Amino acid sequence: CGIIGYTGHRPAVPLIVEGLRRLEYRGYDSAGVAFIQNKQLTTVRAEGKLVNLETKLESVNTTLATSGMGHTRWATHGIPVERNAHPHMCSDGSLAIIHNGIIENYQPLKNELMEKGYSFKSETDTEVLANLIAEGRKQTGALDKGLSWALQRVEGAYAVVVYATDMPGVIYGARLSSPFVMGIGQGENFVASDIPAFLPYTRDVVFLENGEMVRIEANDWKVLDVKTLEPIEKQVHHIQWDI
Ligand code: GLU
Repeated sequence: CGIIGYTGHRPAVPLIVEGLRRLEYRGYDSAGVAFIQNKQLTTVRAEGKLVNLETKLESVNTTLATSGMGHTRWATHGIPVERNAHPHMCSDGSLAIIHNGIIENYQPLKNELMEKGYSFKSETDTEVLANLIAEGRKQTGALDKGLSWALQRVEGAYAVVVYATDMPGVIYGARLSSPFVMGIGQGENFVASDIPAFLPYTRDVVFLENGEMVRIEANDWKVLDVKTLEPIEKQVHHIQWDI
């Protein structure tokens, strides 16, 4: 339901939770964050309001993480409990994703992945996509190609953010029929389901269209065609309004 991804120079986790709070108006039933610190990808998730997530985060040291992502979930597949909250990791923990929308053909994809040895800890369509991206990466040898491979097999609607353990400063995103925007900062960049998530940090916004993929780093961003991975030229819009 609410999505934010960040890579830059600030402590990422408080910024992400604050961003989720500015997306709270959309409604949600659970929330979670993922961050990488000391080469370790950690997720923290909680049922209910953001304050429950914040309470859990009080006992977790996140000070070294300068990238990460957060999600507020509005359940469509699987009841609203912690194990179904996003982010979802693939079976071997090498990447995590957050997702808005619905993967319509998740059941045949899940069967296929289970035959290949992938395991599932949740009832969500999202965890199927996490494992499908991991399989795509394995088959193609690269995360961008694997994401492209996976998304071409998916039917439905999504805004998805992908974060890999061995690429801590890099965030990938893609959209099909779900809102998704990118915020361009100074030495930091953002992706989100809506502009208020990052408006205190930047007013320079790129609107993503269906079939576009984005790759952000602290000092770089680019938009690519999901199918061909060809670069797409995008306009940066300066937002005048306040929240
Ligand atoms: N279909 C996903 C789920 O049920 C995403 C829901 C959302 O858009 O928040 O977990």
